[in-house]
Formats: sequence, C-alpha cells, structure tokens
Amino acid sequence: MDSKTIGILGGGQLGRMIVEAASRLNIKTVVLDAPNSPAKQINAGEHVDGSFNNVDDIARLAKKCDVLTVEIEHVDADALELVRKSMNVEIYPLPETIKLIKDKYLQKEHLISHGIKVADLVAVSENSESALAEIGAKFGYPFMLKSRTDAYDGRGNFVVKSPEFHAEALEFLSNRPLYAEKWCRFAKELAVMVVRTIDGEVHAYPTVETVHKDNICHVVYAPARVLDTVRSHAQILANSAVKTFPGCGIFGVEMFLLPDNELLVNEIAPRPHNSGHYTIDACVTSQFEAHVRAVVGLPMPRNVTSFSTTNTAAIMVNVLGDDVPNKELEACSRALETPHASVYLYGKTTRPKRKLGHINIVTSSMADAEERLRYIMEGRAPILS
Ligand code: ATP
Ligand code: MG
Ligand code: MG
Repeated sequence: MDSKTIGILGGGQLGRMIVEAASRLNIKTVVLDAPNSPAKQINAGEHVDGSFNNVDDIARLAKKCDVLTVEIEHVDADALELVRKSMNVEIYPLPETIKLIKDKYLQKEHLISHGIKVADLVAVSENSESALAEIGAKFGYPFMLKSRTDAYDGRGNFVVKSPEFHAEALEFLSNRPLYAEKWCRFAKELAVMVVRTIDGEVHAYPTVETVHKDNICHVVYAPARVLDTVRSHAQILANSAVKTFPGCGIFGVEMFLLPDNELLVNEIAPRPHNSGHYTIDACVTSQFEAHVRAVVGLPMPRNVTSFSTTNTAAIMVNVLGDDVPNKELEACSRALETPHASVYLYGKTTRPKRKLGHINIVTSSMADAEERLRYIMEGRAPILS
C-alpha cells in the first residue's frame, strides 16, 4: 500500500486530516506549505517549505512524490499542468478540473453545459456601477455579487441589497474578477461528498444539512433533516455533477434546497470539505481516507461511503476562534466530557472566527445528538450516558 508517496499542496486542516488518514494506511505524505503549518505538525515524513502557487516549489514537491493532490483549489493550475507534463507524477484532482472549478463562473458554465441546474448568473462585464445597475434591473434586489476566484468562507461575496449598495460592493470586491447571481431564497443548504475512482465510478456519502453563520460553515447535520426523497435526489445530483469532472478524488457538492424541494448546485470543491468532517466518526470510511484510496488507486467497496450503522445521527460543529482568545476551548472541554463526542484541534493559533477545530457527535437519534450539542455549546446540564 505504501508504494506511492502523496504530495499535498496546502498544509491546513484538510491537509492535516489527509496526512492522518494516509498514515493509518502507512502511505507516506509530503506537505508543501509554510513551515509548521497544521499538516506539517503531524507529518513524520519530509516537508517542502514554500508556496502552492509557485511552480518551482511545486516541482520540488513533485520530485519527492508519485501523486500530487490539493487541500485547496486556489492553487496555480497552469503550474500543476506544467509539472504533470514535464515530470513523472500523477495529479488528482486533474489540473484542468482545478482550473475549471477555481473560477466559479467557469465552474457554473461547465455545470450548465452538462445540464446541472445552478442559480441564474451573469458575468460582470466591467466593475462599474452602471454594470451593476444592469444586473439589478435583470435580477432584482437583493442579488449576490461574487468574486470568480479566491473565494472562501463568503469572503468573495457581497449581498447587493439595493442600488445604494453598488459603490460599497465594488469597493469591497475591488479589482477582483466578478460575476453576479440571482438571490436564491433557499429553504435549506445541503451538501454531499462524492468520491470518484480512477475508473470513473462515483460513490456518494449521505446527504447532510449545512448551517452557516456569518458565511462560515458552522453546524452540519447528518443525515439532513429533510424528506428521504430529497436526500436521494441530492445524492443523485451530486453524483451527476461529479461525473462531469474526469480524474479521481473526493469532491464536496454544495446545494440549495428550494421551498418546492427542487435542488440547485451552489458550488463544488475538488477536495475534502468542511461538510464532510462528520464522516471521520460516522461513516465506514472517512472522506480523507476515501480521497487517499482514490488518488493512489486502492479498492473502494460498494458501501465505502455509507454510515457505519443503519440509524446513525451525527452533528459536526466547527470550533471557531472566539472574540475572547481561547474561550472556544470551553466548548471543547465540555465535548471531552460528553459521551459520543470527539474533538479535533488543528494546531492553529486562535483568532476571531478562525476555523481552529471541529467536534463530531455521533449517536443513534438526531434529538439525542442535538441535546449533546446544546450542552457542548451552551453548557446546559451535562449528559453522562
Ligand atoms: P465556501 O467557504 O463554502 O467555499 P464561498 O466563499 O465559496 O464559501 P459560496 O458558497 O458561494 O461562498 O457562498 C457562501 C454562502 O452564501 C452560501 O453557503 C449561501 O449561504 C450564501 N449564498 C451564496 N450564493 C447565494 C445566492 N445566490 N443566493 C442566496 N444566498 C447565497
Ligand atoms: Mg467556495
Ligand atoms: Mg460555499
């Protein structure tokens, strides 16, 4: 199993959890990022200090590895393509997939061309108030102005509530390539992780419900608290969307559930995803292990993405930095006291709203999981059984 060494572009928490999963299979990993990044802290093997956006640094990583993968899509895809052509290394997700996905506008044009429904969107021809006025006339207000690239945790998004916000929106997203989306009055946000094998087979994990706070993923309910039929539809949609991207690896598919139970794809991540952290404790195989298996070509049995038990109910809550430094650790301490809860900390220094870790609660009923969550987050009466 350890015949291939995996190089990971990016040493954040996702890289760290890939390292952890690979090490359990005795697969070596080499991490490219700044020194002492979360993944490097736990990686016993070699490191490359540098940037995942620098072609020389990527080439230095490739020299030490058989397969390269990413924990983030905001990498230099052209550099990856160059490295793939000039060096003896496989790269998953494929550089062309990363190139398509990292530009959200291209990503959505790609999905539309494959018959996958997304919110109505339009390119912003120039970053000017008159261009935004045209969009406002077309979509109405509010509409969502989005950066095509380098967007995460909502930092590339601006809600344009009325024409008075045009100037502020342009200032907030100044000098970034933009597009706009019609406002989507969704009932819930759902997500499905999908692993794609080198043979092009896709396996969908259970459909989950994601709840965002200040644009940051906050709580994930698995399975999603929606009709069975909606959950199945979401898995089918996620599989269809991922089938449009050749190559292999794990993908996160974010969706909007509309009030009439229709589904739109919001965006796709070609990597492990925050909405899939629950899989570590709730599923037969975690999203990280599934990714590792996919990129090195290990077997993927039929139930690889299933819940571990038939009545699994899981909640994942992110540990976000509190305004009072380290206050977030109080919830972690309560989680450590709570049966059926597991705590993951990423080795980052505290900063308000920074993703510092997560907590998984896995039981056999959602009501029970919610009660444990209340204790962990609010300190209500402890749960001892
Ligand atoms: P992530 O951290 O998931 O990568 P991101 O910065 O790429 O986030 P999006 O996923 O595009 O941003 O949007 C963040 C959140 O903003 C969504 O989860 C959703 O709650 C809201 N949102 C995005 N697009 C729309 C829309 N068209 N209408 C209404 N709300 C939206
Ligand atoms: Mg995103
Ligand atoms: Mg998103």
